[in-house]
Amino acid sequence: MSTLFISDLHLEDARPEPSGWLTAFLEGPAQSADAVYILGDLFEYWIGDDALSPTARELASATHRLASQGLPIHFMHGNRDFLLGDHYADLAGFTLLPETVVVDLYGEPTLLLHGDTLCTDDHQYQAFRAQSRTPQWQAAVLSRSVEERLALAKSARDASAAHMESAAMQIMDVNEDAVRKAFAEHGVQRMIHGHTHRPAVHEYELGDAGKAQRIVLADWYEKGSYLEVDAAGARKRDI
Ligand code: MN
Repeated sequence: MSTLFISDLHLEDARPEPSGWLTAFLEGPAQSADAVYILGDLFEYWIGDDALSPTARELASATHRLASQGLPIHFMHGNRDFLLGDHYADLAGFTLLPETVVVDLYGEPTLLLHGDTLCTDDHQYQAFRAQSRTPQWQAAVLSRSVEERLALAKSARDASAAHMESAAMQIMDVNEDAVRKAFAEHGVQRMIHGHTHRPAVHEYELGDAGKAQRIVLADWYEKGSYLEVDAAGARKRDI
């Protein structure tokens, strides 16, 4: 048995391919998994649980069916879908996770996070993140009309695309001090995250704390993929 991890699918009505890959994942490898963890940016954007896209509705019925058959499906917010709330989580059969969590995976304590909090060199993004995680900001946004929220989401995506073009490449990646701090703070030797769209396994030497591993999940722009973790270790698999 194994535990499966996915992130950065960026599902939206306008781009149906990844939804098809996700269906293949849910009908295939997920069926025999111990648990599935979605580590953020499942959706390209999220404007509130009261304004569900056809893609979001279809996905919820598929995941809810699996969850009611006994598969735990855990969801952690990404920077695109951080407004996803309890109502949709119930509909989809998701357990909502906090922004960091340590889980025991076959004897190995492992830190799970979306990954954006590690990108501390991107000051502009971190400022927006701090503001947009407050209940006041979220209540103000969610009180707007669906049309206004769609427009806001579009301008946020345009601004993000422009920022990614202008900012230096290394600013968009994790800060190595932030990574080491996270290992120390949580007392783990393995972490799994997405967000950077730079799939890899990075090895660390933590001195007295020993060796550590940072596993970065792949995005779903070109194809679907997942990380499979069992007692023997972790491996990336394509769908
Ligand atoms: Mn992200």
